Amino acid sequence: MRNPKQPTSMPREASAFEPVPPPILRPWSADRLVAGFCGRAGGVSVGEFATMNLSEAVGDVPESVAENWRLLRAALPSDSLVARVVQVHGSEIVEVTRDSARERPRADGMVTREAGVVLGILTADCVPVLLCDAHEHVAGALHAGWRGVLGGIAQAGITAMNSLGADAGSIRAALGPSIGLCCFEVEQDLAERFGAEIPSASRHRRAGRPGKAYLDLRAIVRDQLIEAGLAPSAIESVGPCTRCSAARFFSRRAAGGAVTGLQLSFAGFAAR
Ligand SMILES: [Zn+2]
Repeated sequence: MRNPKQPTSMPREASAFEPVPPPILRPWSADRLVAGFCGRAGGVSVGEFATMNLSEAVGDVPESVAENWRLLRAALPSDSLVARVVQVHGSEIVEVTRDSARERPRADGMVTREAGVVLGILTADCVPVLLCDAHEHVAGALHAGWRGVLGGIAQAGITAMNSLGADAGSIRAALGPSIGLCCFEVEQDLAERFGAEIPSASRHRRAGRPGKAYLDLRAIVRDQLIEAGLAPSAIESVGPCTRCSAARFFSRRAAGGAVTGLQLSFAGFAAR
């Protein structure tokens, strides 16, 4: 005899199909600080964009990207305005206010001192740099690829933070998941250019195959931040090499020249 309490059919396994919120690596904690590094986990994108691609510019299905943004926003304080830039591998930094948060100027870094503005940058191997002065409530986010690093984006970011009232001595920096010394092989010419333009960079280089060399971009950016006045203890590295951990993070190099998604790194202060 059938137990009347037994359902006649299996319940719909709705949870298996519900979008998953993105896991976020958190660099520091401070009152009202909103900061973190997403990877490719969470979200609904498929294929090469699986699953938390947040870029509308790489060929992903617009509805999937919109859903991923909805999931990301749900993980932020409700009054957050996420500001973005059109990243061009330069070293331009823009100041963002609540009024300008919806503009998307061409730049590779942003700073703000307005509560509720969350600065978001997208990467897949380049170094995402988050900055905060928790006393002055000034935040920054930089996209530091090799061109930006050569262009001095780290120093430009600190100068822009200082111009908003931050003190280099109390700024903390977090360098997020990005391609490591293990995987960032470049032409010898480029490695030599780094050595010529950033003398400390030669400490963060090792030999590669003939005509090539490996560079440690995160270590080079770290030195640049120290040179700009940050305390070594105020700079942390968060997360692994993106290429080595391509199952968890988007990596252009791991994709071998094919299209791939981009992950978001963000920093700001909540309004309350
Ligand atoms: Zn690696």
